[in-house]
Amino acid sequence: MAVEQLPGACWYPHGDDFEGDAHYPTEARAREAERNLREGDPLIEVTVLPFPAPCWTVTCDGGCEVDLEDGEYEWTLHLESRTEAEQVAGSYDWTVTADSRAFCDSCGAPEGAVIATRPIPGHLPRADRRGRH
Ligand SMILES: [Zn+2]
Ligand SMILES: [Zn+2]
Repeated sequence: MAVEQLPGACWYPHGDDFEGDAHYPTEARAREAERNLREGDPLIEVTVLPFPAPCWTVTCDGGCEVDLEDGEYEWTLHLESRTEAEQVAGSYDWTVTADSRAFCDSCGAPEGAVIATRPIPGHLPRADRRGRH
């Protein structure tokens, strides 16, 4: 839970004329997505690549166990680094404590917790860091 790095790197379909930002936990799952794209458009230029490092995710430690999700698509957000994860969590009104626990805006941080990241209004995640599993 909390602010955590996934155990392995995600895979994703990539191509010049393909706008996509879904992450897949295995190469096999990403290949399946690639096949579906080709069924929709046999000429599409798409390949499957792993990210250079495992993504970071944020899960609420307040008891609700909700994942930090994209506000529009409700995908679990995958971030590039711990710092980015903490900043993006802040942009969604989440609070991150000094010991890397995360609390959604409904739960809030417990009294006495040392706050590491305060919400940064207007800081929105980059679209290419969205992901889903
Ligand atoms: Zn990912
Ligand atoms: Zn919560």
